[in-house]
Amino acid sequence: SSPSSSGGSVAVGGGGRRVPVGLKKPAKRIVVTGGAGFVGSHLVDKLLARGDNVIVIDNFFTGRKENVVHHFGNPSFELIRHDVVEPILLEVDEIYHLACPASPVHYNEVYGDPLEHPQKETYWGHVNPIGVRSCYDEGKRTAETLTMDYHRGAEVEVRIARIFNTYGPRMCLDDGRVVSNFVAQALRKEPMTVYGDGKQTRSFQFVSDLVDGLIALMQSEHIGPFNLGNPGEFTMLELAEIVKEVVDPSATIEFKPNTADDPHMRKPDISKAKELLNWEPKIKLRQGLPLMVTDFQKRILSDGK
Ligand code: UDP
Repeated sequence: SSPSSSGGSVAVGGGGRRVPVGLKKPAKRIVVTGGAGFVGSHLVDKLLARGDNVIVIDNFFTGRKENVVHHFGNPSFELIRHDVVEPILLEVDEIYHLACPASPVHYNEVYGDPLEHPQKETYWGHVNPIGVRSCYDEGKRTAETLTMDYHRGAEVEVRIARIFNTYGPRMCLDDGRVVSNFVAQALRKEPMTVYGDGKQTRSFQFVSDLVDGLIALMQSEHIGPFNLGNPGEFTMLELAEIVKEVVDPSATIEFKPNTADDPHMRKPDISKAKELLNWEPKIKLRQGLPLMVTDFQKRILSDGK
């Protein structure tokens, strides 16, 4: 196949034919596990729009058919109900593995409660292995270990993304994450639940920025790990104020006890992705939130799902 850049006027296509640059590249066959979920379904939209063939594998534990129903009938799209813990045989060019219940109800990120701030990829993390949140952290860490073992031992080509807090349309309304909680609560005229003193920080990236980052990583020559997140850092109290501005100026706040081991701060250092993937997020919180609010408004009004 052809080199993707190099500035020449022709590229070599399959079979050695010379094809003028600008002609379409052959479509890839791509699996997206968790493709009916929040992040996965946005990725699927983008891959199909680009002209690729997409196979979604989803067990629908947290994914929803509504997120992909607009592709039903598209011959480039296939949907398989399947749990990724069971083997499945498919011949494909690329796999994006996004299947994972990410709601804090089912639990939380690779760096744990970090002692380094902001977190670079070289930081090895600070995880309490027996803490209530550790199954998520350690799960992600083990996944990276296995990925690298397959890469080194079986020469599988791999990429590793470390995804920071992400929000946007199609998030589960009640999955318990802070942005979805605050937005849904404000829309339902309920108080926004701030856990602890609300001074803990997070950095929120809009889902389309994450999707661009995942695709840039897949297309790159680099394995990673790469932090993909928006470095704009907010306290939960600041977030509540912004949701109030965007959704309802009369929204109120209710303080609730925090969970144990809740990370005090989280902010990605994305200089590696900027430099090597030429990627950085474009959408600021105040731009992205209204897009999510519109989607939530529609869903809360229709069926509450
Ligand atoms: N949080 C909150 N109110 C909520 C849900 C979460 O104040 O209704 C806080 C939570 O304690 C944490 C932060 O918001 O400090 C982010 O939580 P989330 O579960 O969204 O993601 P995490 O970064 O912890 O994975």
